[in-house]
Amino acid sequence: MKIKDLVRPNILGITPYSSARNEYSNLQDGVIFLDANENPFDSGYNRYPDPNQRLIKDRLAEIKGVKQNQILLGNGSDEVLDLILRTFCEPGKDQVIILPPTYGMYKVLANIHNVGVIEVQLIEKFQPDVERILNVANEKTKVLFLCSPNNPTANSFSSNLIEELVSGFNGIVVIDEAYIDFSNKDSWIHRLEDFSNLIVTQTFSKSYGMAGIRLGVSYASETITEILDSIKPPYNVNQLTQDKALECLQSNDQLINDVKEIINHRNWLISELKLISIVSKVYESDSNFILVKVKNAEKLYQLLINHKIVTRNRSNQPLCENCLRLTIGKKDENIKLISILKTLK
Ligand SMILES: *Cc1c(COP(=O)(O)O)cnc(C)c1O
Repeated sequence: MKIKDLVRPNILGITPYSSARNEYSNLQDGVIFLDANENPFDSGYNRYPDPNQRLIKDRLAEIKGVKQNQILLGNGSDEVLDLILRTFCEPGKDQVIILPPTYGMYKVLANIHNVGVIEVQLIEKFQPDVERILNVANEKTKVLFLCSPNNPTANSFSSNLIEELVSGFNGIVVIDEAYIDFSNKDSWIHRLEDFSNLIVTQTFSKSYGMAGIRLGVSYASETITEILDSIKPPYNVNQLTQDKALECLQSNDQLINDVKEIINHRNWLISELKLISIVSKVYESDSNFILVKVKNAEKLYQLLINHKIVTRNRSNQPLCENCLRLTIGKKDENIKLISILKTLK
């Protein structure tokens, strides 16, 4: 598969905006910068940020075992996903495939870009229907979105099924790994060399505990990364975010401890939820949330709101009738949730 054949022709031909800091980026002592119309007085933030986010990419390359030029950073994964759509999908003509029930942004972004959406529902145990997916694919279906672990179902897709899709689909396969750190499955970033059509996205919003800084990452071949990079807004990751991300990447201790604690709470919550009479099913979780089927999701949602506990009612999603999605909270928060549920019949 030639990746460049999948790219919109106007994007292939684009001359990227060359920012002042792109043309001369060595912010060394003693250099006088009269190039970018910045305010010269030092506020700590009077200079434009590094458009290539080199220090963060250095660190991520080291941690993740990939090359710098396989990494693209965005203002949240949402921006990264948006760049992927812009790159590969011709508005009014091309299509993407999504696998409901799944993360809502894929469809919203496709709608924004006037890109068609083919929905192929998950089948038993919330796994992808490989045969149907490969059957509906055609020369217009440019991108297949896989979310594993999947939101809102919380499970991971089987590695064999993912492999069949990545190798069988004649387009870009995005594997959204927002929750990978909560799972014991291997990340697909280790398979980038095997699949030229693979893009893996991750985020600082969940396991890293940094949803507020808005930082999302994609890992892909150098070819794909270079094209995505050529159309991103020049200063898409601001200096405050870059500073905080670097600080956060200095040590893995916090990440490891938080994830361990959240998984312990998850296991406790799952065992407690199974004992609650109005809970009819607790789905397996590889994430920092749990999907549960209850007697009456709308009623329970409201009741929890009355107790000042906000959950997510996923009932309007296919296969999720009467399902609430519960994020794992802190110990006392989880205990409070369970103690309320225990009083209900
Ligand atoms: C939370 C989440 C994200 C994170 O998006 P950001 O824009 O990086 O905060 C991405 N994908 C899925 C499936 C999510 O649930």
